[in-house]
Amino acid sequence: MPATLDNAAIAERLDAFAGLLDLAGSGRYTARAYRRAAETVRESRAPVAALVREGRVQELRGIGPGIAARLRELVETGAIAELDELEREVRPELVGLGRLLGIGPQRMVDIGRALGVSTADELRQAAREGRLKDVPGIGPKTEERVLARLESPERPRRRGLLLNRARALLEEIAGALGGEVAGDPRRWADESFELAVVVAAARPKAALDAFERLPAIVAVVEREARRAVGVTVEGLPVELIVAPPSRFGTELLRATGTPAYAEALGPLPAAADEEAVYAALGVPWCPPELREEPFRGTPPQLLELADVRGDLHCHTTWSDGKASVLEMATAARDLGYEYLAVCDHTRNVRVVPGLDADDLRRQAEEIAAANDALAPFRVLRGTEVDIRSDGGLDLPDDVLGELDWVQLSLHAGQREAREPLTRKVTEAMRHPAVTCLSHPRGRLINHRPPNALDLEAVFEVALETGVALETNGLANRLDLSGPEVRLAIEAGVPIVASTDAHSIRGLKNMRLAIATARRGWATAADVVNTRPLAELPLRRRAPG
Ligand SMILES: [Zn+2]
Ligand SMILES: [Zn+2]
Repeated sequence: MPATLDNAAIAERLDAFAGLLDLAGSGRYTARAYRRAAETVRESRAPVAALVREGRVQELRGIGPGIAARLRELVETGAIAELDELEREVRPELVGLGRLLGIGPQRMVDIGRALGVSTADELRQAAREGRLKDVPGIGPKTEERVLARLESPERPRRRGLLLNRARALLEEIAGALGGEVAGDPRRWADESFELAVVVAAARPKAALDAFERLPAIVAVVEREARRAVGVTVEGLPVELIVAPPSRFGTELLRATGTPAYAEALGPLPAAADEEAVYAALGVPWCPPELREEPFRGTPPQLLELADVRGDLHCHTTWSDGKASVLEMATAARDLGYEYLAVCDHTRNVRVVPGLDADDLRRQAEEIAAANDALAPFRVLRGTEVDIRSDGGLDLPDDVLGELDWVQLSLHAGQREAREPLTRKVTEAMRHPAVTCLSHPRGRLINHRPPNALDLEAVFEVALETGVALETNGLANRLDLSGPEVRLAIEAGVPIVASTDAHSIRGLKNMRLAIATARRGWATAADVVNTRPLAELPLRRRAPG
């Protein structure tokens, strides 16, 4: 029997399986199930290998019989045969390399097979020898492009990586190498293009070798004395910088960027940590979230995750959430919060189940029971009420008047012109039951641009009515964005940092909402859900 696998090792194998299933085109659903299972295993406090041996692993959320069987195989034999087979078949190192070079997975595997190569070095060698031409279907144009991209460090422009994935990837790599996350994810950028990790080591070889062996890095495309660039299976380049310990702070500051910010500081003195670099420059230390544009001043005391006392936007099984009211509330209490607002969808959303007035009143009983069970923790009765196409709210006034917290949301018609869109939203904000406007710009990063909403007009009505504006912690929303949060705060409009969680795990997205607020220079005083329950601006007034 193999040595006992810890939860992290099991999760890593499940993640690898998910990645390969994606590559093999096995359907997004299966890959997603494995990814979710990996997350569950990673977060489980119980040793999962022991649960597997006791035949109890299906008690964990999201682990069905199929995944349980794979886990049994892994724990008993130390491997998953199908995973090994897939690895041989889809050649992740070639697929990752291909994506970096702008060549699709299947094509790249064909090229690898035709040339008998499987690493970046072998491919480069074959290309230099002019053997690419021998591959059926490769013309001089493709050959030229592949050669150029293999030789030059310049990378094709691509979509950025969403913040949750970027943080998870770099935290895993930095954790394995004992280094620090750098690049765009350290500034909590909405999308990451520059992924970097900085490690301190007098002798760099061990760190560089360890980097090459990481499961997340499928191919190394550049390696120098103190630096390497590897690619993930998605073709994302990740840079490793191995700094001498006496220059760790200097390299970390430089690799955190942005180039405009770092350059404006002038030549960076050598120092072992960032604080010392700043001290030597005579510039106050600056939180990474603010290192976007040149800045040498004293930063404000930014909001911290620990300042948050509750979450004001989440869903339950009443609409499209995965957990019950009690489960969500218990999880929120366990995060140390004082309150949680349950804001399920209304009927107008259509694509997911929505609630009407009767449903909301039945939900009230469940919320009351949760409050009895969890007191003094407080579950707030809320809704995420749609603005209908006619501009009205999707719930009758009487039930809106019973609620503690009303999130106003536009889910359709995001492409409407600026003037009618702004009129519709600001008019809906004037409804006396509304307390907060959800994801105001309606963007879905990489899928839908922000709507044309006139934010100045929205700020004006927000000030007039007391409606707060949300910065939404879903990684593909982050809406309002950092710069928009900053404008709102400058206008004096209160911000709510919420997760819009649809599961217990989703409640952890608070760190993304907080980071986005910090990128908007928010202090705790600017953010509504840092206030204790008694000071929340609940229910503006009952509609009259
Ligand atoms: Zn929504
Ligand atoms: Zn929502």
